[in-house]
Amino acid sequence: MIAENLKIIQTQIQSACTCSGRDPNEVTLIAVSKTKPVSALREAYEAGVRDFGENKVQELIEKIPQLPDDIRWHMIGHLQRNKVKYIIGKVALIHSVDSLRLAEEISRESVRQGVDTDILIEINVAEEESKFGVSLRETPDLIKKIAGLPGINVKGLMTVAPYTAVSEKNRPYFVKMRELSVDIERKNIDNISMNILSMGMTGDFSVAVEEGATCVRVGTGIFGERDYTNQQPVR
Ligand SMILES: *Cc1c(COP(=O)(O)O)cnc(C)c1O
Repeated sequence: MIAENLKIIQTQIQSACTCSGRDPNEVTLIAVSKTKPVSALREAYEAGVRDFGENKVQELIEKIPQLPDDIRWHMIGHLQRNKVKYIIGKVALIHSVDSLRLAEEISRESVRQGVDTDILIEINVAEEESKFGVSLRETPDLIKKIAGLPGINVKGLMTVAPYTAVSEKNRPYFVKMRELSVDIERKNIDNISMNILSMGMTGDFSVAVEEGATCVRVGTGIFGERDYTNQQPVR
């Protein structure tokens, strides 16, 4: 089931690339495996997935030692400062940095462990009250401040677009994200690159790819619906 779902998603990414004249190799599919058992991740791994996304520190650090070493783990959920120390050196990319204080903690812990940590800035592109993320307006200033911190590299931007049954409705938000990323890139700030644009989920990843996403984060489309009522054990 998972292998078939992956094929479908990959085909859809390819058509979105064809539509917009992009190279499919520029787009990384991140399999969002939160709440799913290790057996499901293994199945995705066997089908070729090497990028997995999790949104909870506890779940992430329980899963990592149970799966092969060549997996790139992505922290995509809200990150509390007191939990930063558990994931530094273990994740390939933290997608959800939305404050200077969090960036400072990541910097401090990375320096302590002698590693560099790649991060994205999470943008609340639709300015939804319920969502984490920095506003478009505040982003350039935050990025300038983070640029001066040791042990941390800003690689781009991330957003969780509004929930909608009509993916076209999110196109203007994806366009805004790309424009912001281009604006920041033009400022040529030391330590800052805008190579990654992490946007698009099961409901809207095709539109996101058409508008320039380089990472799409797909959970339900690969693993099926998540069951939160009866939390499955991680093992
Ligand atoms: C859960 C989650 C996803 C995946 O959502 P689906 O709709 O299941 O594809 C993507 N990004 C973030 C930040 C998430 O928390």
